[in-house]
Amino acid sequence: MLPQWIIEKKRDGNELSDEEIAFFIQGFTAGSIPDYQMAAFAMAVYFKGMTPRETAALTMEMMLSGETIDPASLPGIKADKHSTGGIGDKTSLILAPLAACCGLTVPMISGRGLGITGGTLDKLESIPGYRTNLSGKEFFQTLENVGCAIIGQTARLAPADKKLYALRDVTGTVPSIPLITASIMSKKLAEGIDTLVLDVKWGKGAFMKTVEQARELAQAMVEVGTHMEKKVRAVITDMNQPLGRAAGNALEVQECLDVLRGGGPDDLKELTVELTAHMLELSNVRKTRAEIFQCLENGEALKKFEAMVAAQGGSTNWIFDEAAIQKPLPAPADGIVSAVDADLIGRGCLILGAGRQKTDDTIDHAVGIAQMKKPGETVKKGEPLAMIFSNDREKTEEALPMFATAFHCVAAPTLTGRPLSLRSGGKSFEFGDRFEPSLLIYEVIG
Ligand code: URA
Repeated sequence: MLPQWIIEKKRDGNELSDEEIAFFIQGFTAGSIPDYQMAAFAMAVYFKGMTPRETAALTMEMMLSGETIDPASLPGIKADKHSTGGIGDKTSLILAPLAACCGLTVPMISGRGLGITGGTLDKLESIPGYRTNLSGKEFFQTLENVGCAIIGQTARLAPADKKLYALRDVTGTVPSIPLITASIMSKKLAEGIDTLVLDVKWGKGAFMKTVEQARELAQAMVEVGTHMEKKVRAVITDMNQPLGRAAGNALEVQECLDVLRGGGPDDLKELTVELTAHMLELSNVRKTRAEIFQCLENGEALKKFEAMVAAQGGSTNWIFDEAAIQKPLPAPADGIVSAVDADLIGRGCLILGAGRQKTDDTIDHAVGIAQMKKPGETVKKGEPLAMIFSNDREKTEEALPMFATAFHCVAAPTLTGRPLSLRSGGKSFEFGDRFEPSLLIYEVIG
């Protein structure tokens, strides 16, 4: 077998055998298949796609390219959640301790920010002392003592994905459904979990721009999970507007603390409880949504979060670095917020330094945007639509127009009463040609 024969076969739209996929991934991981052949292979997959069987074989090989975790010795059902990424998406920080309070063991291996989307590890690292690089022993101890732990991908976990992702990033082959599926699922399945809930986001602030693309990705990931005899469910959710009222690392952790103290924004609370409820359902743990909410309101989930942070070396005095510049974004006129563009909010945060423009950039944990008004809320001329947090005057000036254009306001909305969503935060508004409810869960697959 020669690598070029496999590339040619995929280029011509033919289905590869499990042996051919194994040969390619093993050769790439070992270094006998060079980057240029892998890049050509990835481009062939990008254009010709893969059948569900090929995608499952690719996922399996990528998972087996490194070590896998065997949490069988840990108590309870091992469950996790993965989000395809968005703006202000901080659910993991609340969900992991919440699910642990409800009896699950949550061995969560998370990622860093990618493009304009934020990353769970970057958010947690805004807590002074928090370590995302626990040893295997420390990870297991935390899971045993607390019930949840959130760490980063080690060099030994799915190394084929690490190498391939870096190559895809620079060869225009990131947005391929089989490649994204294998990338995400190889890492998640290497955790040795029993059940997995996927939050597949679509919209302006997500990788998948349409609900159809999100559905296709969700179906592919659920199929791979089922093929590997895992219980996997996908929830397709809206990412046209940011989740919650804050975007930016330390600002988001503070918003999570608000939720864990029983307050915080409704959309964030609702989505987190909804995803936790799906994790519990898949894991055959009976709890109503009201009972899950209760763990937020009675402080149990906060205690769990504090225990996890302390076990991972973090300080629980909740003192964060503060940005030097704190500037209100004034409303240009009286009106009602009709939409907040997640893409523009993400871009503004990236300019301020909340994310990385190049892979080796360092993050400024203190910067971002908070107290954002949500669709349906009224503002008076000059009142703040949000507060901007920055450490650099020039960057503030560059980001300001992005934040300003992100907020759409109208004079008066009309109530539609159209049942456009399963859950929409209890509100449905029609703004001319715009419809921006506070939260949409479109579909559940699996
Ligand atoms: N996240 C991943 O881990 N991999 C992808 O390919 C895309 C998003």
